[in-house]
Amino acid sequence: MSTPDHEVVVIGAGFGGIATGVELRRQGIEDFVLLEKHDGIGGTWWANTYPGIAVDIPAIYYSFSYEPFRSSRLFPPGHEVQAYAEHIVDKYGLRDRIRLGVTFTGAKWDDSTHLWQLDFADGSQLSCRYLVPALGILEQAKLPEIPGIEKFAGKVVHSSQWDHEYDYTGKRIGVIGTGASGLQIIPEMAKIASHLTVFQRTPIWLAPKPDIRIDWGLDRALKGPVLRRAVRYTIATALDAALVVGVRALGATPAAIPYVTRAAQGATRIWLRDKELADKLVPSYAPGCKRPSMSNEYFRTFKQKDRVALITEKMCEITDRAVITADGTAHELDVLVCATGFRVCERGFAPGMPIHGMHDRELGDYWHENHYHAYEGVTVPGWPNLFLVCCGPNTIVPSSILTTAENNAILTSRAIAAARRRGATRVEVKQQPFDDFARMCVERAEGSMWMAAPCAGSNTYYVNYQNELAIRPTTVLSQWRAARFLRTRDFTFHALPSTVLAASADTAADLAGAGSK
Ligand code: NAP
Repeated sequence: MSTPDHEVVVIGAGFGGIATGVELRRQGIEDFVLLEKHDGIGGTWWANTYPGIAVDIPAIYYSFSYEPFRSSRLFPPGHEVQAYAEHIVDKYGLRDRIRLGVTFTGAKWDDSTHLWQLDFADGSQLSCRYLVPALGILEQAKLPEIPGIEKFAGKVVHSSQWDHEYDYTGKRIGVIGTGASGLQIIPEMAKIASHLTVFQRTPIWLAPKPDIRIDWGLDRALKGPVLRRAVRYTIATALDAALVVGVRALGATPAAIPYVTRAAQGATRIWLRDKELADKLVPSYAPGCKRPSMSNEYFRTFKQKDRVALITEKMCEITDRAVITADGTAHELDVLVCATGFRVCERGFAPGMPIHGMHDRELGDYWHENHYHAYEGVTVPGWPNLFLVCCGPNTIVPSSILTTAENNAILTSRAIAAARRRGATRVEVKQQPFDDFARMCVERAEGSMWMAAPCAGSNTYYVNYQNELAIRPTTVLSQWRAARFLRTRDFTFHALPSTVLAASADTAADLAGAGSK
């Protein structure tokens, strides 16, 4: 039987791609490559190296279910997460499947050969039977759209592109953005700046971080599968329960939301013990509307009022030397740190390159003109043999992203294995199960607090630019079940006639001659 260049091409060697590689091998699928645009593996954790970077989910849950993450702290620093990615790659035999510095620019489905034709930035091409974009969602850095930013004569740096060569010590530093990255960067910048100015648009809900060091004894104990699983499933269940409360309970009883919000606001005010700061730092939207985080240092940083200013006035303009706020103040700076996040679920960025399926339809256009949905967040009718890992709509459960990566990878590898068992060369999700999953997401979104008044003004990326819920409104358990017990009846499987397969072997050979990865 003929084969394309590779049976499976996985785009990305972050945790989504790595999880896919592990699961493909588990299904006995060996003809695959992982193509990565960066010069290293780990995706977000390779790119993001800003000072203070750490996980805000315990390592025991920010890890794959089958491989312990032996970290130095309960909430490990970024370089340890990247090292965990390296460890998985070596232990699960993926190193020789990874090609670095390869930038994928688009793909086109050929229904006459049941193959994807892939394009790359260097002009080369590849063919594959199955395409798995595992692009992640924190991929396209977003600079603030403030007039004049291009005129700033000092240093401008985005949190995901940290310049380690530059000396930030003793400089007047401004940080724009108070999300999960900003709140880790801000205390670090306060330690070295001559003066720090933080520009906040929306405050973040924060909890204390019980960040203990993992000593030898605890490491040994957590290495044991029984305790590790018990702790892991306890955290998973707690997060699932919080999600059920957010989606169902609070959505069904909106009258309770103001009470919950006031209780959380009161607790935060007590923690801050500073009315002036509390008036700025305590969110007015309900907790859970957007991603909360943890820190023991963030609030404390603003108490150094002689050295750290918290600005909540709107930023109107940036000149060569200063940020001008709505009250007319010019905040003079040497460095502007943009912890302003990523283009997530935006037009043209989900996905960030054209993927043409049946009848030459482009996936981003289709989603924009219809609704952003995918079956189990992974696959779409009309785009056969395409599985999106950790980058489709309604795929990410607000929990550990590694559980979503693992579950998406399991579903993908099982669908491909099911096609192989049937001798099929084309697998496509049926319209009805796709519609059923989409309807479930819409119904749960409508009944959730994310779409309701208490979340107005939270600027959450849980809701996309078309006012649709972007995340998966189910528990991790439900996602895990759908992946492990793949409903093959939800898919159609087709095989090409053997004459076409023979011809496609020639096409593959031609393409391989044109450029190989
Ligand atoms: P983010 O959560 O999107 O936060 C971006 C911040 O920049 C927000 O405060 C936003 O304000 C502000 N901002 C954006 N554009 C602005 C503008 N034009 N003017 C003023 N302010 C502006 O991005 P992030 O902090 O990089 O985090 C992204 C995601 O990375 C997180 O949600 C999380 O999933 C992940 N992350 C995880 C960890 C971890 O420990 N696991 C750590 C860091 C990051 P608004 O809120 O008003 O939009």
